[in-house]
Amino acid sequence: MRRLDEIMNFNEEFVLNKEYLKYTKIRKDNKKIVIVSCMDTRLTELLPKALNIKDGDAKFIKNAGASVIHPFGNTIRSIVIAIYEFDIDEVYIIAHHDCGMSNLDSSKTLEKGYSKGIDKNEVKKIIDSGFDLEKWLKGFNSVNDSVVSTVKSIKNHPLIPRDIKVYGLIIDPTNGKLELVYDDL
Ligand SMILES: [Zn+2]
Repeated sequence: MRRLDEIMNFNEEFVLNKEYLKYTKIRKDNKKIVIVSCMDTRLTELLPKALNIKDGDAKFIKNAGASVIHPFGNTIRSIVIAIYEFDIDEVYIIAHHDCGMSNLDSSKTLEKGYSKGIDKNEVKKIIDSGFDLEKWLKGFNSVNDSVVSTVKSIKNHPLIPRDIKVYGLIIDPTNGKLELVYDDL
């Protein structure tokens, strides 16, 4: 059975059995926070449970490495919308130990793309156009430094109001423990 079919079959039962009722009662942004976290699958349930975040409490933005790599990319856009449209006033950058983006080698990552059938000529065209593909695919050397630089890039962003609090944290995926690495006092 395809994974899609498994999901669709489960979903049919979920709706039929009204299992959604447990989750659809709260619809407000109770805590007024946005959390930028990593797409790592170990954090799917662990992160909200470890922070006592329930439906209605927080807006979640996930990407590879819990980072903001472009000042006008999709992550910062989502944060801006959350602040302007939903009155969110605190941003939490929550990266994690043992992240796949740690020490990621962009040339090795590109090689994996080629082995999946990506055309080298197309990649060359992207690079020749002046786009820094290597930087775009690169991970970080230190999760701590990555969190702090992401926090600062948000705090100094011209579209982020000055009174928005931005905190930087790292979670341990083996036990859910949070470490505060940037406090916004
Ligand atoms: Zn990660």
